[in-house]
Amino acid sequence: MPVDCLIRDARIVDGTGAPWFVSDVLLRDGRIAEIGKAIQADGVRVLDAQGLYLAPGFIDAHCHDDLICLREPERIEKIAQGVTTLVVGNCSFSLYPMVAGSAGNLRKHFSTLLGDVSDNEVFEDFAGYRDAIHGRGLALNLVSLVGHAALRLAVIGHERRAATDAECKEMQALLARQLRAGAAGLSLGLVYPPSAYADRGELLALSRTVQENGKLLAAHIRGYEGDLLDSMDEFIGLLRDSGVPGLLSHLQSAGRPNWGQMTDALSKLEQARQQGVDISFDMYPYPAGSSYILQLLPTDALEGGYDGLVARLAQGDFREQLRFYLEGKSPKGVPPSKVSLIGWENVRISGVSNPGLKSLEGQSMVQAAVDLGISPFDLLVRLILEDQGQTSIVMFQLDEKDLHAACTHRLHMVGSDGLPRPGTKPHPRAYGTFPRVAGRLRREGWFALEDAVCRMTSRAAERFGLADRGLIRPGMAADLVLFGDAIEDCATFDSPTRLPTGIEHVLVAGEMVLENGKMTGRLPGRVLGQDGGKKNA
Ligand SMILES: [Zn+2]
Repeated sequence: MPVDCLIRDARIVDGTGAPWFVSDVLLRDGRIAEIGKAIQADGVRVLDAQGLYLAPGFIDAHCHDDLICLREPERIEKIAQGVTTLVVGNCSFSLYPMVAGSAGNLRKHFSTLLGDVSDNEVFEDFAGYRDAIHGRGLALNLVSLVGHAALRLAVIGHERRAATDAECKEMQALLARQLRAGAAGLSLGLVYPPSAYADRGELLALSRTVQENGKLLAAHIRGYEGDLLDSMDEFIGLLRDSGVPGLLSHLQSAGRPNWGQMTDALSKLEQARQQGVDISFDMYPYPAGSSYILQLLPTDALEGGYDGLVARLAQGDFREQLRFYLEGKSPKGVPPSKVSLIGWENVRISGVSNPGLKSLEGQSMVQAAVDLGISPFDLLVRLILEDQGQTSIVMFQLDEKDLHAACTHRLHMVGSDGLPRPGTKPHPRAYGTFPRVAGRLRREGWFALEDAVCRMTSRAAERFGLADRGLIRPGMAADLVLFGDAIEDCATFDSPTRLPTGIEHVLVAGEMVLENGKMTGRLPGRVLGQDGGKKNA
């Protein structure tokens, strides 16, 4: 139960971007009841917050915590960052919906992203996922997008082809049911098969369904390399023609030859808005990305899913063609591979499922290949086969100037894109994104604190339709974070799981989930959306 509480003399950063001001805040029944000087209230807990900043709880606009929320309800590394709401289901990956016969495909598909998923961790629909989360409890709130891959796997499987009209209608109906039940929107992952196999007709049909239900379209677009601007045009066209609001996932320009493209990318967004397209974007504050190793392959290699890939890898011809492609020796006219743009030395193995490969975690593909006496390409094939395609990688592929331009732009919001995988050496963004923005980058002059907080709170709340979150205002849910000026991320690429410092207290719906820097073990979080969120005080 929430405890009524009077927070005294905090420096209030209210989420709008306005300068902080010192005030008291009274919390009652899990909501903000009053803001003002010298509030009098009897019989409530008093928290002296002198010298601390009080902000709305941070909203992680983009992460992949779908699975771990079922397994680790305390979500320590998120709470320790001051995050009180997560958005999951991104980049086409969600653990629902499924139909009779698609469960196995969905489970296997998600496993390639974050390791083994068991039978009871995929769900028929949004309500099934929500009920499972509520049954286990969760420290923070969760907003869920429907992954396009789940829709495709339910209706078309792993086939590499356009959907028929009948199949489009089936996917639209399946999607509409999830949106009406409380899912926040649809996520595309147009580099990830089978989402990548969709044509414009299918994407437009699904976008219209999202629009009709008043929800959001999020997209990991078709490419972030030399094809970034064309891929943005594709997404902007869908938003324009369907009238749906959009969130472009982790805007970046990847691969050294493409550095500097951010200026044009940001102008393109401004132009789209001038034409009435409601678009913004999320991005994490690091110059490296992370994904599953299968992202290094061309999308047609995954026709038929992982099993199709394995069958193809058994053919010598296919392997040779793949080697040529990855190493940039394809004939003219074929777009360069990701590997040829960023270099094997900039791809680091960050997580594996097979215990026999554990020693490779933290090593670059070049280092690891040298140690094993094989080529990086042969190591890639070995990882695909021996780790069931479940290897995670970190890719050092971005330019600091592009990153700065994106993360300080007015249309930007913060999303960690964290890929939680306990016991591995993940990208530090899962452990440090929010304190990095509020601390280190703010001190380096990227933005004022108020601007930083706005990017981590109200912008995401607006985008995901969270009308009672993201601001400090009477009536809003008491999802709050209190932190000191010295707030700092401690996770690095070499020590990626170090927790941040400087965050004192975190409240979710008026309950302390972090108190004096320590987890309390309380689980007041809810899945937000329709009836799922109502019980949240
Ligand atoms: Zn993505």
